[in-house]
Amino acid sequence: MQLDSDFCYHCLRCSRCCHDQAIQVNPYEILRLARHLGLSTSQFIERHTTNAGLFLRFTSEGACGFLTPQGCGVHPARPLVCRLYPLGREIDLQEGEGFVLLERHPQCPALVGGAGRLGEYLDEQGAGPFLAAADLYLELVLEMHEALRRHAPLGAGGETLAGLGRSAVQAVNPWLDVDAVLGDAVLEADPWRAMQRHLVAIRKWTRQMEGEESNAH
Ligand code: SF4
Ligand code: SF4
Repeated sequence: MQLDSDFCYHCLRCSRCCHDQAIQVNPYEILRLARHLGLSTSQFIERHTTNAGLFLRFTSEGACGFLTPQGCGVHPARPLVCRLYPLGREIDLQEGEGFVLLERHPQCPALVGGAGRLGEYLDEQGAGPFLAAADLYLELVLEMHEALRRHAPLGAGGETLAGLGRSAVQAVNPWLDVDAVLGDAVLEADPWRAMQRHLVAIRKWTRQMEGEESNAH
């Protein structure tokens, strides 16, 4: 599906789909959540994520750590996947962006159908900056991967985009903590500005890493 495809969906906020998920977050999503909660990204990662900032923490009963009896406790700052659900976004480097309908929770009572466009749905969900941030980090991850491949070839072909992303994200993992990277005495309040500075810092690190590698050879 594309932005101009017919799509109309009314979530009834029953929270069933806030269970048994693995919600991966990028540095922008961490920033949004952290600032919403009045935390630094370091504090947020320690308290609310697993895998050193890659995934939101869920309870042992399988509920998202932000789920409250009233629903999502971080609704204004919720991550992109929560805004897109029940859609998934696919990026093809040649074809561009597309959206697919995911399998919904078997007891999801949402109302589906009626007049509407997918783009309007995404606007209602406030997905714009999250989609833009995801693209910026994907671009960065691809650059990181290229830099890694120049210095540690992965072998002949066969890598998927997801696989490329994973390997580069693992390399970037220590850099997910934006506030630790920026080192500000006073936290940058604007998540978008903090993200842009973060992207600059990681690119600088990548260039330095490449410089050190070529000096060593
Ligand atoms: S299960 Fe369906 S209705 Fe319930 S919160 Fe999720 S999308 Fe909304
Ligand atoms: S962040 Fe909110 S919407 Fe997303 S899974 Fe957690 S409780 Fe549900």
